[in-house]
Amino acid sequence: MTRLPTVEAFREAFGAAFGSPPDLIARAPGRVNLIGEHTDYNDGFVMPMAIDREVRVAVRRRTDRLVRLVSVNYHAHSEFSLDDVAHDPAQPWSNYERGVVRILLDSGAIVGGFDMAIVGDVPQGAGLSSSAAVEVATLTALNSLFGLGLAPFEVAKMGQRAEREFVGVSCGIMDQAISAVGRAGHAMLLDCRSLETTLVPLGSDVAVVVTDTAVTRGLVGSAYNDRRAECEDASAHFATVYPSVRALRDVSEVQFQAHANELAQVVAKRARHVVTENARVINAGEAFRRGDLPEVGRLMYASHDSLRDDFEVTVPELDFLVDLSRSRAGVFGARMTGAGFGGCIVALVKPEAVASYVEQIAAEYRTETGLIPRVFVCHATDGAGVIG
Ligand code: ADP
Ligand code: MG
Repeated sequence: MTRLPTVEAFREAFGAAFGSPPDLIARAPGRVNLIGEHTDYNDGFVMPMAIDREVRVAVRRRTDRLVRLVSVNYHAHSEFSLDDVAHDPAQPWSNYERGVVRILLDSGAIVGGFDMAIVGDVPQGAGLSSSAAVEVATLTALNSLFGLGLAPFEVAKMGQRAEREFVGVSCGIMDQAISAVGRAGHAMLLDCRSLETTLVPLGSDVAVVVTDTAVTRGLVGSAYNDRRAECEDASAHFATVYPSVRALRDVSEVQFQAHANELAQVVAKRARHVVTENARVINAGEAFRRGDLPEVGRLMYASHDSLRDDFEVTVPELDFLVDLSRSRAGVFGARMTGAGFGGCIVALVKPEAVASYVEQIAAEYRTETGLIPRVFVCHATDGAGVIG
């Protein structure tokens, strides 16, 4: 992904594309999930942080009902009327902005025409959620431009709706929520049922390193649907034993142990992952607050093992990268992050060990697989806002 231009250079690019400067510029970050995988659709807990890779949009009001979009990364443009918000198959990147506009109009928000330029350095399709960054940046800009008065969580929910209902990707609320409300130096413990958030201080003595396996995701759609169905089966069984259970989130580890043998073996394994993973997220939050990074690391490795053995969503490349991390000095912990079947691992590393960790795992991974991994050293940043 190209480097992000300065705010000034971006303002000039907008001027070059549209003839005069923008009214304002907004930004929204990508994210990485530190722990809590496949818990979101079980009403459970996740712990993402906003990263220092972002999407920026520059906007200017128009007096008519036209919307003109320019992508700086793609050197492409697309336009539509507010009276006919349809997909643009020739410019699929524009469907995220179109989706946002459609959701705003459907919800009664009064927006007029506008010109918008988009640029970003969130790696696309690497599991760092560039799509949520586009949606949240667009909504943040339009919120300000048209004085819509949307609170950050309303922005997040509208971004999620744009992706689900217009783009057609079934996503949870985590990505848009952290992009909207992230805080520098912190991860966020998010309750996916209540949307309650708790800030988790990361401390200054740790770096977050994301390594992309560069493995193309296979089978992810059908395997994802299978996992969801298995979780629903398990939850339905526990609801017959404990009537207050509405999702696996409501099943404690003790309750799980007491009734696991009543489930089909595969279903029991899936449920065990979700039940233990929810507990790990809560424990990781407490460990971060105590400054106990070795414990957070231990929980991350346990999360990976559970995703490999019980949820069965890892691939050998993910396991290999995590195993390389296990034996490395200065590494607290590592795990796969994202849906699995490819994608990235995330590691917590002592700042002074980052350079050698990055160099060594990249070299060993390349020797083992012939693939060149992309490595991103990330810092926790603030959520979306207007920056110019
Ligand atoms: P991820 O969210 O994991 O990065 P997705 O496939 O969900 O991957 O979203 C990637 C899509 O988001 C891109 O194909 C593109 O359409 C859009 N997108 C991301 N970043 C940008 C950008 N800087 N400019 C325009 N569109 C972008
Ligand atoms: Mg996405």
